[in-house]
Amino acid sequence: MNNLHDEIDAIRQRLGKKLLILGHHYQREEIVAHTDMQGDSFQLSAAAAQNTDCETIIFCGVHFMAETADILANSPENLAKRGGRRVDVVLPDIDAGCSMAEMATRQDVEYCRNSLTTLFDDDKIIPVTYVNSTAELKAFCGQHGGFACTSTNAQAVLREALQLGTSQPGTPQQESLQKQKKSQKPCVLFFPDQHLGQNTAIKMGISESQISLWNSNEPDFGGNTPEQIKNSRIILWNGYCCVHQKFVPGHIDEIRKAFPKIRVIVHPECRRDVVEKADESGSTAFILKQITESPAGSQWAVGTESRFVERLARQNPDKTIVNLAFQPSYCETMGLIELPKLAAMLMSVESGLKRNLIRVDDHIAPDALRCLRRMLQACS
Ligand code: SF4
Repeated sequence: MNNLHDEIDAIRQRLGKKLLILGHHYQREEIVAHTDMQGDSFQLSAAAAQNTDCETIIFCGVHFMAETADILANSPENLAKRGGRRVDVVLPDIDAGCSMAEMATRQDVEYCRNSLTTLFDDDKIIPVTYVNSTAELKAFCGQHGGFACTSTNAQAVLREALQLGTSQPGTPQQESLQKQKKSQKPCVLFFPDQHLGQNTAIKMGISESQISLWNSNEPDFGGNTPEQIKNSRIILWNGYCCVHQKFVPGHIDEIRKAFPKIRVIVHPECRRDVVEKADESGSTAFILKQITESPAGSQWAVGTESRFVERLARQNPDKTIVNLAFQPSYCETMGLIELPKLAAMLMSVESGLKRNLIRVDDHIAPDALRCLRRMLQACS
């Protein structure tokens, strides 16, 4: 292993500023040790897009993250700054996908939206995609006046989305139609993560009767009545993250019994009953901040990916930090990236081969970029 570490260090030194290695918080420790930046998916992509020197980004994360990095790093403005030169984004393991992102396909979401247009005016259905989704779905949102969101900014984006849906003046008939349209409130179609959507909507005070779950395997309005759908302010896709959905309220009871003074903090991709039973909930960045800034001696049970929790425990030896569940919850696809694969990727980049190149098609990248920019505008 030492040889591999030395090999990686040597190649990184030879490539210098031409290479940027990004590491998601859920990566293995030996991978994180060789990254230039660590963070969550959007934070990493946005930071990488600002870098004007690098020619290649090795994204130690999953497929959708590399797509977002490609979209942002190769935006028209960034291409112009570099005189038209593209930045190549590569994944050390091409099979590193995200099961949640794969739970919503463009075809299924398009079918859902088409069904909704029989109950809502076209401009009242606002698609919002969690960044943990394919570039195709981001492009879909870009084409239909929608937004992306992260677990940090989901509330701000939903608030903005629910205020949309203004109509244009036209002929008297059109205007009479517009009056009817105005009485209809916008409805958000949120995908792919039902839990982030539901937890955010509940925090915003949206009532349960105004939240519907769209089961893409069910015919006829995803298993809902037309009335239920018409009353909805938010329609949730039935996707979930298998890592976060493993946590159940019983884990909180057990950990509180074992550590009576412990504070429970969970990610909003966890189920609603877990989020409501926890002391705090928030994005990976929020969890990192809360724990890092807590006083020595604090005790935390953390409901999120276990490699990240284990790293937090190592970085905060003066605090007690444990996984919320006694059984660790690792993201398997993040774990596909192992040291030999990173070393092989570096050798490939150095030799100019660029294996596992992630390049978003030119016909969807502009719409996907529009969707990401609307998210940033909604939060500014
Ligand atoms: S932790 Fe969940 S959402 Fe994140 S990459 Fe893994 S499966 Fe996807």
